[in-house]
Amino acid sequence: MRHLYESTLKRVFGYDTFRPGQHEIIHSVVEGQDVLAVMPTGAGKSLTFQLPSYIKNGGLTVIVSPLLSLIEDQMLHIRERGERGVARLTSMESAEEKQEIINHLKRYRFLYLSPEQLAVPYVTRALSNVKIQMLVIDEAHCISQWGHEFRPEYARLGELRKQIGSPQCMAVTATAPESVKQDIVEKLALFSPEQFVHSANRPEIRLMVERLEKEKKLERLKELVRDVPKPAVVYTATRREAEALAFELDDALFYHGGMSTEDRRLVQSQFLRNEVSVMVCTSAFGMGVNKDNVRSVIHFQIPATVEAYMQEIGRAGRDGEPAFAVLLYADGDERIQQFLIDGQYPKDEDIRLAYFERENGTSVSQLSRILRMNEEDPKFLLLKQMLSERSLQEALDWVKERRRDRYRQLGQMMDYALI
Ligand code: ADP
Ligand code: MG
Repeated sequence: MRHLYESTLKRVFGYDTFRPGQHEIIHSVVEGQDVLAVMPTGAGKSLTFQLPSYIKNGGLTVIVSPLLSLIEDQMLHIRERGERGVARLTSMESAEEKQEIINHLKRYRFLYLSPEQLAVPYVTRALSNVKIQMLVIDEAHCISQWGHEFRPEYARLGELRKQIGSPQCMAVTATAPESVKQDIVEKLALFSPEQFVHSANRPEIRLMVERLEKEKKLERLKELVRDVPKPAVVYTATRREAEALAFELDDALFYHGGMSTEDRRLVQSQFLRNEVSVMVCTSAFGMGVNKDNVRSVIHFQIPATVEAYMQEIGRAGRDGEPAFAVLLYADGDERIQQFLIDGQYPKDEDIRLAYFERENGTSVSQLSRILRMNEEDPKFLLLKQMLSERSLQEALDWVKERRRDRYRQLGQMMDYALI
């Protein structure tokens, strides 16, 4: 089973490892249990209700979500993976569009809708006539009067669940004190649910942000690394900088995705065995690394997303002992992330050129030469995929949308760090 989950994670989502908590939840869902999962924002809750759909046979996963923007975001991510079996019913769809979706529910793997839409009689009726694999209530705290975001429409979900045939049900949220949890279980009539709680609260980690001038960052880093409790991890944005900083610091090694597997393993094991006290690395470091006594995490550059930041500082203090997280920020530091984001997507002129060349019957390998991109370059792979699936205009829009999305996430990280 373990292997099946992992291969599905890789094949469908493109990830190598589960994040903390995901595997257990997925297992429980696949077994057919009702589940209540409480995990912090950014922990990866969506994957825990999406992945089982690829493991269990057939049927629709119906996801109730309170906000149009959340639904849009999730659909974008699902489509980006190449999954076409996803639809939504919200206030944005016209009556005809809704009818079209309702008439062809069997085409879909995931159906996102607002609680209001689920309560529309012809929607409820249509859903009661198809096989529903699972009903998911995202942001489930909205169901509770005790919660801070009570939504009256959520209160009917228990009843609606019955009307569509009482399918297996999963409730997920980031915030649920005991009273709210009880309310969720009761109102949805969850049947002896398995509860998973992964707290966002890591009181053992002290968070600090230091704003300083660019020229002073390196000196300050050296000081910090000397003074903070170790072992320490220093995160930076680029491979080159990871190497350069490790060279400047005492007792430090570097780690990044550009190294050979062998080198990476070697460096990692030295750090794990406490033979070296400082690891300077890019975000490539840490996934699946189990070292519970990391005392300090220092960010020399601002990460690209709040999720990444949480993930990275979460590597400190896993043993429950006090730990530090320090983010060093100088005005303009975000430009490096902007640069990296821009570099991850093909430029508009390259997209245009690729479509033009295809019209002329240019082969893939010729195209890679014309564009001066390696055929294995993720950007080139993306282009190839777009050529096969989208029109030129769609491809341009898609890239624009993705870039905007990433910029927005970076903006959130800035807000988070600089308030
Ligand atoms: P939330 O728990 O807040 O609902 P999401 O489900 O939106 O979080 O996931 C947050 C981000 O984490 C998404 O970009 C998602 O693709 C990513 N993610 C989820 N699981 C994994 C994983 N196992 N490895 C890497 N990234 C993951
Ligand atoms: Mg979510």
